[in-house]
Amino acid sequence: MNVFDTAKLIVIKVGSALLVDGATGELRRAWLESLCADVAAIKREGKQVILVSSGAIALGRRALKLKAGALRLEESQAAAAAGQVRLAEAYADIFAGENIVAAQILLTLGDTEERRRYLNARATLNTLLDLGAVPVINENDTVATAEIRFGDNDRLGARVASMMGADALVLLSDVDGLYTADPRGDANAKHIPEVTAITPEIEAMATGSVSGLGRGGMASKIIAARIATAAGADVVITKGESIHPLAKIREGARHTVFRATTTPAAARKRWIAGVLKPEGILVIDEGAVRALTEGKSLLPAGIRQVDGRFERGDAVLVKDREGREIARGLAAYNASDAERIAGKRTVEIEAILGYRGRDEMIHRDDLALTVLENKS
Ligand code: GLU
Repeated sequence: MNVFDTAKLIVIKVGSALLVDGATGELRRAWLESLCADVAAIKREGKQVILVSSGAIALGRRALKLKAGALRLEESQAAAAAGQVRLAEAYADIFAGENIVAAQILLTLGDTEERRRYLNARATLNTLLDLGAVPVINENDTVATAEIRFGDNDRLGARVASMMGADALVLLSDVDGLYTADPRGDANAKHIPEVTAITPEIEAMATGSVSGLGRGGMASKIIAARIATAAGADVVITKGESIHPLAKIREGARHTVFRATTTPAAARKRWIAGVLKPEGILVIDEGAVRALTEGKSLLPAGIRQVDGRFERGDAVLVKDREGREIARGLAAYNASDAERIAGKRTVEIEAILGYRGRDEMIHRDDLALTVLENKS
């Protein structure tokens, strides 16, 4: 089964070696045009696409006439700054030719780890997708220090796929998938078309194949695959070098697919139900309990009491009036705002708070039924 057939949201990671010609340091424009045409075709099928694109450092080092070879950290950061603007310009220009708006987002590790920033990044990306734009993401190289880096865009792609609940992550790189050994050094190396579980054996096959331009080798792709498959995304690794790289996957170009081990929704709910330390309690009425068990969101109207001090994005417990835990979820308002809109209708929120926040107190995507789910 082809991942493109079933996926609704696809994250595509584009490696530096594909975007930038290794010999000249120039953007491979014809290739990028073909990639954007493929993305446009996928969007016409009603699917959503997010790009995670490298290439800033490779493009910028040429613009700044930096020497060949390894760069110092400050030099790569300077190169990223000069290259990113060129990269973004190329995407904006080429996508405009497809009648698509490209939107740049630069992320640091903390943006996908710290809950409030994470929620903001997620909301912005969802808004862009709803508006039909194609987000083009890169690491914010100029502010990231060695300790707080994703390190490579394979991992950034996996974090984005997990944060957004994508069904598929495609890593376009300079290898056409996973082999039993490094195919460049071992003539007996066999290609593996499908991986259903990332075992130690699979990990051992990934002996760091690192190209000249990007940071990630096969080992970093396996780490990315582990993160993304556990978050519900199938991961495709393929050689993206020739034009129309996405169309080619659909036509059967050689690739490895790592199968997701869960669904994005289940992964997110498990994360909310299990990992977080609740900072507050929302006590809800019977009508709201019923709505929640039917899979609906928690609206301010159903809230009877707000306890604890929590910020927007913090995890809270949801209890019924007898004190039984019903659910856990991420609050869309902080404790004092929650208190002010408790029991009120959604249309009144703006007048009470003076700003227009979310319609729900906890959106159903951010809500995991706990006790009731365990009972059934
Ligand atoms: N963020 C880096 C860049 O745009 C690339 C990182 C990577 O190659 O994985 O140049």
